[in-house]
Amino acid sequence: MQGYKSPQKDALFVMNELLGFEKHYADLGFEDASPDMVEAIFSEAAKFSENVLAPINAIGDEIGATWDDGVVTTPPGFKEAYQQYVEGGWPGMTRPHEFGGQALPYSLASTLGEWLSGANHSWAMYPGLSQGCMATLETHGTDEQRKMFLHKLVEGSWTGTMCLTESHCGSDLGMLKCKAEPNTDGSYNLTGSKIFISAGEHDFSENIVHIVIARLPDAPKGTRGISLFVVPKFNVSPEGEKLDRNAVTCGSIEHKMGIKASATCVINFDAAKGYLVGTENRGLNCMFTFMNTARIGTGLEGLSATEAAFQGALKYAKDRLQFRSMKGVKNPDGPADPIINHPDVRRMLLTQKALAEGNRALIIYAMQLVDVTQYSKDDDAKQLAEAKLALLTPIVKAFLTETAQEATSYGMQVYGGHGYIKEWGMEQLARDTRICTMYEGTTGIQAIDLLARKVVGSNGELLNVFVKEVRDYCLSVRDKSQFAAWSNAINTHLDEWQQLTSDVSKRATTNPEELGAASVDYLMYSGYVVVGYFWLKMAVTAQQKLDEGTSDVDFYQAKLHTTKFYFDRMLSRTRSLASAMGSGADNLMSISEEQFLVG
Ligand SMILES: Cc1cc2nc3c(=O)[nH]c(=O)nc-3n(C[C@H](O)[C@H](O)[C@H](O)COP(=O)(O)OP(=O)(O)OC[C@H]3O[C@@H](n4cnc5c(N)ncnc54)[C@H](O)[C@@H]3O)c2cc1C
Repeated sequence: MQGYKSPQKDALFVMNELLGFEKHYADLGFEDASPDMVEAIFSEAAKFSENVLAPINAIGDEIGATWDDGVVTTPPGFKEAYQQYVEGGWPGMTRPHEFGGQALPYSLASTLGEWLSGANHSWAMYPGLSQGCMATLETHGTDEQRKMFLHKLVEGSWTGTMCLTESHCGSDLGMLKCKAEPNTDGSYNLTGSKIFISAGEHDFSENIVHIVIARLPDAPKGTRGISLFVVPKFNVSPEGEKLDRNAVTCGSIEHKMGIKASATCVINFDAAKGYLVGTENRGLNCMFTFMNTARIGTGLEGLSATEAAFQGALKYAKDRLQFRSMKGVKNPDGPADPIINHPDVRRMLLTQKALAEGNRALIIYAMQLVDVTQYSKDDDAKQLAEAKLALLTPIVKAFLTETAQEATSYGMQVYGGHGYIKEWGMEQLARDTRICTMYEGTTGIQAIDLLARKVVGSNGELLNVFVKEVRDYCLSVRDKSQFAAWSNAINTHLDEWQQLTSDVSKRATTNPEELGAASVDYLMYSGYVVVGYFWLKMAVTAQQKLDEGTSDVDFYQAKLHTTKFYFDRMLSRTRSLASAMGSGADNLMSISEEQFLVG
């Protein structure tokens, strides 16, 4: 987005002042990730996002990726921006030294990922997909496979994809048909067609490494018969050199609502040579290991759109003059007052701000948990982080992307009719971020994962672990009189969250559809409570800073104002969600298919 500013200061506030990242990195042995180093890296990422990616965002939307006879061309400037990204060493930030990476923590690279996507969602998809591919090979690949593929991927001269979806199966991967036949040399021939493959074909890199799920001959039906393969566009020697073309082609790209510069490809495998990654028929288990990070990555895209929409709307609201303020003239030298003076415009701006900053705190916390699960040597700490992350991942994915729809819609609304016009970039943000609630598991699928698999599936244990953290925190600030009301509000919600869980679990023992009927409301309810917890924490931290006599009074007072807005006007959304959840499945299921009459 033109004029986009990377919110470095807020990210550093969350990391350093809220979540103690200096100690966190030191405890995990990341000596290189000192606060100064983090700031220096952030500042370079911010420059790249603002000066290189943001200026080509609108042209990317205008021209889009194009397909001609299997060749995909990205819009002007995209390839050159990727070249700069590679020269900056960004693709390998978190990858091990032995493959040419910088071995920096996951959370560091992910936090700045918000700015790449905020500046240019489409462009950021290409390197984003590569990260999933590298993580899969790093964790599940053999030494030979790592040697073949990782150096070039880490360097960035090759990119990667994740090929799961087929025309007849998206959420329900158990139905997949793509076949893998073993060859005598230990490789496999893959045959089938994948659809909707992001970055499946393009002009950024010399080779594209596809991670593909497929079925072996005689594999069990359903998800127990899915295996994982690595299949390059160009064959690769054991030493990692690019060889002849493999039988992988791009049949077409989709014409779609948004992220037009991101090529969404049909990828055809016609007895293409590939290699098994991990164990036969255990492909989905391998995928689960990086599913958390892929889902957090999509939540981050939602956050980036929320922030960008807020930035655009705020600037416009300060400039646009319409009517006088209800309390009298604010801009005597002008013909009218800036629209930021009108309460309803403030309602929209504060909703965006509360979502951007609250959601940022939540997602950086989730990234901190990922760090612990990946790098900690303390088994207890690791186990605790895994439990919290399991609960929070579907919330991060779905809540941050669902609320991005509201925030980007307000981005347009604050501009009035001008928000609907291309020139300002607000309608592009709304179109681009719309996909985020769908790919990487729809909101419906995240909600079932949260309620049925994580919460009920653990007999409430995963919920209780996180609730304990929040309750302990509320108790610790309860005696600070100015925070008593907010900490009580969160505490009361924790009781209700547990009660709602127990109610729906009970109903589900006689009717399993109760879980599906409650799930999305349950997820959104959880999101508002969890973000409320982070707003409470931010308010306490901000007050401490003000008490210490900080010179940055506006920044911290804004946190207190926004906390008040969140508790007064946003947390109360839980009322209607709790009521919908409590109403049960019958009002959804009793109408017959035939009675869904049209007209
Ligand atoms: C732009 C774009 C990029 C993409 N990139 C990739 C990629 O890189 N790699 C890749 O493999 N795929 C990719 N996808 C595919 C994407 O992940 C799938 O579209 C998504 O998983 C949903 O699958 P589906 O479209 O088949 O919808 P379906 O699974 O058919 O779902 C349709 C609707 O039914 C609901 N539903 C289904 N089952 C249930 C249930 N049990 N309970 C409640 N509701 C249910 C869903 O929530 C949804 O609302 C991409 C898609 C798009 C559009």
